[in-house]
Amino acid sequence: MSNILKFIVQGSEGEEYDVNFKRIGDRLTATCSCVSGKMKRGFCKHRLDLMFGDFTNLVDPNFDDLESLPDLLEGTTAAPHFQALRDTYGKLHEANAQLAEAKKGVKKIEDEINGLKDKLLTAMTPPSGKR
Ligand SMILES: [Zn+2]
Repeated sequence: MSNILKFIVQGSEGEEYDVNFKRIGDRLTATCSCVSGKMKRGFCKHRLDLMFGDFTNLVDPNFDDLESLPDLLEGTTAAPHFQALRDTYGKLHEANAQLAEAKKGVKKIEDEINGLKDKLLTAMTPPSGKR
């Protein structure tokens, strides 16, 4: 297996960036030629997209290399951090699903309140002509 994987991704305005992953021993380095990626602690999405298996912005995808990426990560010092991030995204997804359910519940109660207000006001409305 190659210790270096090179990809080209397309940015939001059509520009192309080089994303390179390189493993030396148990250390994985990942670089990207985008503006954020070139900053010392810059955080570009291109490296993470590839690690998370989002290949939608890849130019000329090389599927052998894509399949090799998880193997390159495996056993590196970055791997536990990636796993923790992945797990936390899972929690976020779950929390958002619960939030969506809760919003549906709130909507149902609001509809019920509106129905009850309507019945109450109807019950309190004087017969026509006797206001
Ligand atoms: Zn980037």
